[in-house]
Amino acid sequence: MHSYPPTDNLNISNMELKPVWKNVLEKLKVKVAPETYETWFAQTQLVEIEDGIAKIGCKNPYIASMLEKNYHTMVKNMLRESADKKVDITFVVKPDLAGQTKSSDPSAPLFEEKDETPEINLTQVAKKQGLNPTYTFDRFVVGGSNRLAQAAAMAVAENPGEAYNPLFVYGGVGLGKTHLLHAIGLYALEQNAETKVMYVPTETLLNELVTGIRQQGMERFRNTYRELDILILDDVQFIAGRDTLQEEFFNTFNTLYQSGKQIVVASDRPPSEISKLEDRVRSRLEGGLVADIAAPDFEMRMAIINEKCEENEYPIPEAIRITIAEEVKHNIRELEGGLMTVVAIKSTGEQLTVEGVRKLLRKSKNLMKEKVKPEDVISTTSEYLGVTTNDLLSRRRTAEVALARQVVMYILREDLGLPLKEAAVAVKRTDHTTVIHAVEKIEKEMKDDDNLRQKIDEIRRTLTSHDAQPAS
Ligand code: ADP
Ligand code: MG
Repeated sequence: MHSYPPTDNLNISNMELKPVWKNVLEKLKVKVAPETYETWFAQTQLVEIEDGIAKIGCKNPYIASMLEKNYHTMVKNMLRESADKKVDITFVVKPDLAGQTKSSDPSAPLFEEKDETPEINLTQVAKKQGLNPTYTFDRFVVGGSNRLAQAAAMAVAENPGEAYNPLFVYGGVGLGKTHLLHAIGLYALEQNAETKVMYVPTETLLNELVTGIRQQGMERFRNTYRELDILILDDVQFIAGRDTLQEEFFNTFNTLYQSGKQIVVASDRPPSEISKLEDRVRSRLEGGLVADIAAPDFEMRMAIINEKCEENEYPIPEAIRITIAEEVKHNIRELEGGLMTVVAIKSTGEQLTVEGVRKLLRKSKNLMKEKVKPEDVISTTSEYLGVTTNDLLSRRRTAEVALARQVVMYILREDLGLPLKEAAVAVKRTDHTTVIHAVEKIEKEMKDDDNLRQKIDEIRRTLTSHDAQPAS
């Protein structure tokens, strides 16, 4: 099955299922948009956990496949946390769920007869080595923002250990890093089924390390990783400040590297920006190819929506697709979320209008609005663009100060959805046309100026990064 080191007991009693799943649902509620939760998660159940496989019941195959495609890893990680076991998950169909009233109450009754309903196992195929079989190169849309990273990933998958070593991919949340990492592993396996490849989130590595120390199982830990042909380590930024993990990673890295084995890592930022990283680890990470994935432009967003619609035969009209691509801008996960919201509405038979969809998507965008305050935008932007907050809020018009101010207005509008007037007031301006002008200017400049676009990506990342930090 999966290649984690065995843990003692992977079963869980029926009595424990309910609180465990309730806990997962609570976490999901915080993580995903309310409509997403209602549409896809509210009527799910944890049916059983047996032999390390958790079965999650969904009311129809459509929901099961959609959750499998889009939320497999998220749900798995949450479940692992809640159940405190290294389980794998599979979404199964439980038609009896369809009879339930639509409700987000996670304490709805559990099913006792679990053998009588048909199950569709959507995940059996290629789960062996921590890999999600849906994250293939075939399904990865290539555009300007990810071309280099994709090409490098392909090269590495074709010739592990020979092209770039390590391959370091970085970029903001939801831009396709994890997808690309899985694609490398899947492709390498396809070429040669004997390849020992393992995908592992850095947090998992950390947990295993802790367990390893406690159980005196360090040897096993080392052997697991050092025998690999391809080690794929995701979200390596979480290694920051973890001295033991860095030590272990450094040693593992050297062992693998010296025997020509491939290492692939992803992070939300480049090695140079990971703080509390030992110099020797940093220089190892920088020693191969460092490739970034940027936010997708409009054409790319359209291409992704079209690809998802074709792949899943979603009957979404062109005008609506365009609206989604216009509204959901800097994150592919959110783009998919937006599409799924629309698909869900369509499936109820409701009429879709461009305006209705636009309104709905704007509503879910307001989530960021609740979390980030204008002051945060001002201070973070000042910091990244090298001006003082005082200057930014003053009447100064030097090029740098003016640019920083415009970036603030742009983010206030685009990400926080602030009304024009409020955005103007936030930077101590009275004329709201200043804001309109700023947004237009920044949008235009971001197209031509990679450097600026990258800076703004970083600012956005920092503003939302408290979401991405693991509990420690
Ligand atoms: P990250 O690891 O950068 O946070 P993910 O790899 O988890 O992002 O991607 C988020 C979602 O967007 C996934 O469902 C993934 O399949 C999808 N996605 C990202 N990039 C692309 C792409 N270029 N083409 C198709 N789907 C993509
Ligand atoms: Mg990821």
